Amino acid sequence: MDNLMQPFSLRVSEILDHAARYHPWRKIISRNVEGPIVETNWSSVRIKAKKLSKALQKLDIKKSDRIGVMAWNTARHLELWYGIPGSGAINHTLNPRLFSKQLTYIINHAEDKILMVDLDLIKILEEILPTCKTVTHAIILADKANMPRSNLPNLICYEELVANEDSDFEWVTGHETEACGICYTSGTTGNPKGVVYTHRSNVLHALTSASPDMINLSSTDRIMPVVPLFHANGWSIGYTAPLVGASMVMPGKEMTPEALYEMLEKGVTVTAAVPTIWLLLLNYLKEKKLKLSSLKRVIIGGSSCPKAVIESFQKDFGVKVLHAWGMTEMSPLGTICSFKPEVLELSEEEKISVQETTGHPPFTVELKLTDDNGNKLKNDGKTQGKLWARGAAVVQKYLKFDEKVVDNDGWFDTGDVATIDENGYMSITDRSKDIIKSGGEWISSIELENAAVGHPKIVEAAAIGVFHPKWDERPILVVVCEKGTRVKEKEITDFMSDYVAKWQIPDDIIFVEEIPHTATGKISKIGLRKILENQNYQHPDIQQ
Ligand code: ADP
Repeated sequence: MDNLMQPFSLRVSEILDHAARYHPWRKIISRNVEGPIVETNWSSVRIKAKKLSKALQKLDIKKSDRIGVMAWNTARHLELWYGIPGSGAINHTLNPRLFSKQLTYIINHAEDKILMVDLDLIKILEEILPTCKTVTHAIILADKANMPRSNLPNLICYEELVANEDSDFEWVTGHETEACGICYTSGTTGNPKGVVYTHRSNVLHALTSASPDMINLSSTDRIMPVVPLFHANGWSIGYTAPLVGASMVMPGKEMTPEALYEMLEKGVTVTAAVPTIWLLLLNYLKEKKLKLSSLKRVIIGGSSCPKAVIESFQKDFGVKVLHAWGMTEMSPLGTICSFKPEVLELSEEEKISVQETTGHPPFTVELKLTDDNGNKLKNDGKTQGKLWARGAAVVQKYLKFDEKVVDNDGWFDTGDVATIDENGYMSITDRSKDIIKSGGEWISSIELENAAVGHPKIVEAAAIGVFHPKWDERPILVVVCEKGTRVKEKEITDFMSDYVAKWQIPDDIIFVEEIPHTATGKISKIGLRKILENQNYQHPDIQQ
């Protein structure tokens, strides 16, 4: 039978149109990079986005051209998220914490035609622009009064550019599977790889991630993404919030606990970031004896969330934790830990243990575990295996790669090792390259790290496997203690023995001032291995 329903293209412009039509005055409170906190709303964001689309076309932007954006989380950045795809172009998010060489590599690889950059990042722009072969224009996200001094010629002032246009512009239309955005993986192995999101994948992802068992977002919420818009599709919050007509708070570039607290207290009900941000905030709140007056839920992902963080949010501040797992290649949401009826029956202690898992997938995401030979493994909550994913917003091919990165049945190897229980709750054990293989048994570096950071004087811990002549690999732990404190090695191993099996306890503990991090703020195991290699570190059994 013929399709008798209306054609409706799942394009992100539809999201902003909906927000401006039915939630026009919902506030967006934003800390400008220039300094002041300003207010706007979905109606105004749409007007500015339309003006931008029009201006971009005048700068010779055509369908599928790439525009690189290096910017913090501000209301202005949201205008770009819609103005760029609205002009037919592709929004390529750039992480300013990448090394200049990596930035140049991905800008050249994506063939960005225009770069749009926050004013405080002008130094990075000055450094990389001469080597960016395809870039014809650079736009600074500022008004005339705040344009930075620079030796670069012909810089365009964003506010002036859009002020010169009216908003009489029809969004560029086309098939929903056209590209909408690009985000490169952080390149911990080799060069960064470009993940290209389509309009359709972004709309479907936003629809499913807003649903009640996921982040449960509605027009009564005010959401603050602390996770940068340039990290893993900004966890899709820039799409999910307008899709449900939620209000937003955009924290800008200030990431100190003081600055984040100030913004959280502007009526934020939901927020999202990696665990490190929350560890710092919780310490600050306790030290200053502060309360969170409006916050209801906090989404924590990107790396494993320690139990202490879950407990502190819930018990000390009455804020529900939603532990999540995802990756750039999955747009990014893979799972969220909300309670199914089976979990609601459990005791409070048991519920916390469930929250240490990363939860279950939304509609359109499917997960499975296999052994190294591709045989499917049981979902019993104990058996560890390679984690595979497929779904409506999961990568099939990286930008300019000839080969697909999925198998014949469409499964993508996430590179993670995990368990899944009978109720579908998934728990990340490790990245497959970081798991410690000791005498044929697998030790989760994440489990060791989480056990160690539960110690009140340990700020950060990283577990890695080092060569051992008898066991192949044994775990050692690198630890950062709270400033001015010292902890004995035995005190740490005794503490950890309450949480992990005896044979898994690290054989050696190395105290350092700082652990290296990746551009997305995660512990860099590669960096750590390099440091140990440079010091000719060997397992104590070899040293003797
Ligand atoms: P990057 O590679 O730049 O860190 P991603 O955000 O794509 O960017 O990283 C995805 C990886 O982060 C996952 O494959 C997984 O290893 C890790 N990860 C994400 N969320 C969690 C979590 N809740 N617990 C443990 N690991 C996580």
